[in-house]
Amino acid sequence: MAKTPITVAYGDGIGPEIMQATLDIILAAGAEIDIEVIEIGEKVYLRGLTAGIEDSSWDSLRRTQVFLKAPITTPSGSGYKSLNVTTRKTLGLYANVRPCVSYHPFVQSKHPNMDVVIVRENEEDLYAGIEHRQTSEVYQCLKIISRPGCEKIMRYAFEYARNNNRKKVTCFSKDNIMKMTDGLFHQVFDEVGADYPEIEKEHWIVDIGAAKLADTPEAFDVIVMPNLYGDILSDVAAQITGSVGLAGSANIGASCAMFEAIHGSAPRRAGQNVANPSGLLLGAVMMLNHIGQGGVASRVHNAWLKTLEDGIHTYDVYKEGKSTRKVSTTEFAQAVIERLDKTPSTLKTVNYPKESKKIDIKITHRPRFKKDLVGVDVFLNWDGEANVIGPLIEACGTEQLKLVVVSNRGVKVYPHGHAETFCTDHWRCRFENPAGKNITHNDILQLLSNVHNAGLDFIKIENLCNFDGVRGYTLAQGQ
Ligand code: NAD
Repeated sequence: MAKTPITVAYGDGIGPEIMQATLDIILAAGAEIDIEVIEIGEKVYLRGLTAGIEDSSWDSLRRTQVFLKAPITTPSGSGYKSLNVTTRKTLGLYANVRPCVSYHPFVQSKHPNMDVVIVRENEEDLYAGIEHRQTSEVYQCLKIISRPGCEKIMRYAFEYARNNNRKKVTCFSKDNIMKMTDGLFHQVFDEVGADYPEIEKEHWIVDIGAAKLADTPEAFDVIVMPNLYGDILSDVAAQITGSVGLAGSANIGASCAMFEAIHGSAPRRAGQNVANPSGLLLGAVMMLNHIGQGGVASRVHNAWLKTLEDGIHTYDVYKEGKSTRKVSTTEFAQAVIERLDKTPSTLKTVNYPKESKKIDIKITHRPRFKKDLVGVDVFLNWDGEANVIGPLIEACGTEQLKLVVVSNRGVKVYPHGHAETFCTDHWRCRFENPAGKNITHNDILQLLSNVHNAGLDFIKIENLCNFDGVRGYTLAQGQ
């Protein structure tokens, strides 16, 4: 078999130790790979490269399109960009797949029957990283959710479920509050799900969904989530299987893919030969499947399950009475290598398909809607009371644009606000056409000119539009 080129980064903290263990195991199992090593993380950051990666490393990643990555340490302090977020977004790795499985009775877990796969959207949401300080008191982070972004992740989740014989896909969102962004996520889930009649579908509001996941994870199968909820809840899910050190993850894009452990670089454990390499090893198993070496993936996974069954455990899962030996990272790797021709007796043997079943998502239909500009929200930085700013900004209105409402942190404060409402120095002033007619950019410029002449400090505007006649903005709370 021709060797598949892959890019490897040894990372920081426990990274080099768990990467060596992982490579030793998969090479002993017969993985046909050609390794290109790149340096990423702390050393690169400290050389002054705020992205944590050299330009030349991108060439390797573009060439091999397969990245096996150990965890890295992001130096604290502002100015350093998360390399994980940069890599995912630069390479278009839109789907993050995190299987969270319990290994009862060999690894202690309160949830013996847990077998959940979290499919996390990886490029959008609050992780777009668009943040601004707007006033003395107010900071903003933009939450971006796009229709193609939702379509890609939903189709990926359903295709994953179909390929892996999963019966149900659950969507978590907070669309009772974020009706437009999370609302779109939920809506596209319903739309795409209709193409998969054999798969059960359900939706949970993320708060109660998270509670249910922590309490009764066996109620779930595949869960698809926006970026932030997926980031948080996949750590929770991994931890309740028994150890965060047990879960691997795949970041999948149209051409490239990155495989890693879900945990970080655990700097306090570095250099002691104690870390559990299992998370990265299971990431490598996903990689072997991705590159069409399912036979090797099955050998590695089954030997690893057998090692757990034999009670050979690193410190993080070791339990007196349950485990037979507490082992180091290298001893654990050796124990897996010794079992490469064995299968587990109690845990379920895995048998991956020999060929790669790559999921290829193409978004071909990107509808455009008729957009009507009907108003504008003008945001002001102003120190004072609602009943003072209200009349001042109202006086700036024009024939085309009249003040409708002033809100503070989303709550209506003028006209007819409540004295009890706490106000910051950040005001949203909504103007609309009194006859409900379309307005122009010039109408907005005229309004802004009046605001400027009144000596008011506008910090940004948001246009109010309807799309095919459907309102493209929410009402202020109390409007
Ligand atoms: P962490 O996941 O590195 O470690 C938290 C604790 O979990 C450790 O102290 C250790 O007790 C345990 N642990 C984690 N992995 C283990 C393993 N393989 N074996 C045994 N025990 C393990 O989280 P942290 O301490 O919050 O973060 C440390 C650094 O890692 C930070 O710089 C953070 O930015 C970075 N990080 C990197 C990634 C990544 O590269 N993908 C992900 C998360 C965090």
